[in-house]
Amino acid sequence: SPLLEVRGLTASVKETGQQILAGVNLTIREGEIHAIMGKNGSGKSTLSKVLVGHPHYEVTGGTILFKGEDLVDMEPEERSLAGLFMSFQAPIEIPGVSNFDFLLMAVNARREKSGLPALGPLEFYSVVSPKVDALKMDPKFLDRNVNEGFSGGERKRNEILQLSVIGADLALLDEIDSGLDVDALEDVAIAVNGLLTPQNSVLMITHYQRLLDLIQPSYVHIMENGKIIKTGDSSIATQINEGGFKSIALV
Ligand code: ADP
Ligand code: MG
Ligand code: MG
Repeated sequence: SPLLEVRGLTASVKETGQQILAGVNLTIREGEIHAIMGKNGSGKSTLSKVLVGHPHYEVTGGTILFKGEDLVDMEPEERSLAGLFMSFQAPIEIPGVSNFDFLLMAVNARREKSGLPALGPLEFYSVVSPKVDALKMDPKFLDRNVNEGFSGGERKRNEILQLSVIGADLALLDEIDSGLDVDALEDVAIAVNGLLTPQNSVLMITHYQRLLDLIQPSYVHIMENGKIIKTGDSSIATQINEGGFKSIALV
């Protein structure tokens, strides 16, 4: 079965009941890279948040199967342990918890689930340190509290550090290119490409061709009014870049 199979997914804002997702269908198989593009407000971020179980949204219909298992009734933490990772557009700060401790806890939670012994701090440092270097991050960064006082670019690098340390079968990357300069974007793209194996998959949300040139998608989807209205190969992205969303024929 596919890694992720979304069928007829509808979801609303919990507080107001306003429907945002209006019947999303999306299939992602192992090893595939998917990109979702679409105008502001089309529901891209909501889709990724609903997939990870963000508490502001309620699934009102349809199914989300991840590795054949229904995600809808799983807690966000369980989804994450099952192998789903999401970068947040505005990640939360966690007062009093250093990046190092946060990553170590996350890794050990997964090791425990797989019946592996916990890593100690020294052992873990040797795992995490090369990844910090690869992302050209200051090693002092590990001692800082999670997301506290990070610049936009630091947050983005940190999200990718989390992904590269924790690992994931499916990574949902929502606008990881926003707020990154060209060099930083390249570092992030190299890190993401380095994580790709025939077994794991990425779903990127982006407005920009630049990211798609660096991390080349197998499929590009266009979202509008809470639905995926078109799916194709990377030539769709080029077309949008040149002629805008209006240039995409919807039949
Ligand atoms: P995109 O990521 O494609 O720009 P979003 O998924 O962020 O779009 O938002 C889709 C639509 O849903 C927008 O009109 C947005 O204002 C609305 N929306 C999303 N989340 C909420 C929320 N928590 N409360 C109210 N409206 C929301
Ligand atoms: Mg938006
Ligand atoms: Mg968004």
